[in-house]
Amino acid sequence: MKDNDCIFCKIAAGDIPATKVYEDDVVVAFKDLNPMMPVHTLIIPKEHYDNIADDIPDATLAHLMRTVGTVADAQGVRETGFRIIANTGADACQSVGHVHIHVLGGAPMNDGDPSLS
Ligand code: AMP
Repeated sequence: MKDNDCIFCKIAAGDIPATKVYEDDVVVAFKDLNPMMPVHTLIIPKEHYDNIADDIPDATLAHLMRTVGTVADAQGVRETGFRIIANTGADACQSVGHVHIHVLGGAPMNDGDPSLS
């Protein structure tokens, strides 16, 4: 269900702009506003769920994860490598309460980089 106060729900609905790199009926992927890497894309389900541990239907969760490869192709990092992160809750510094997967790449990373905190 759409949360009227959720910025990612608004992006999913097209109510606020985002640089989309992929979209279908279930998910949308768009460039992070404050990129930590040359490639920094966020993948979200269009339906609102608070985080990756929320009660997300299996098909939606699978679709979300399947989109990682699609985004990696679209952003040209499948061969060079990339990292995915799903910050979850306060200790992990989740700042937007709509589940999202960060796809990061485009340059070599060290262990633990980027911190995203
Ligand atoms: P997290 O800290 O894991 O919740 O990540 C939230 C991410 O959303 C941050 O990397 C922000 O830069 C990004 N972000 C917030 N608002 C927007 C927006 N309107 N468009 C694109 N990215 C955004």
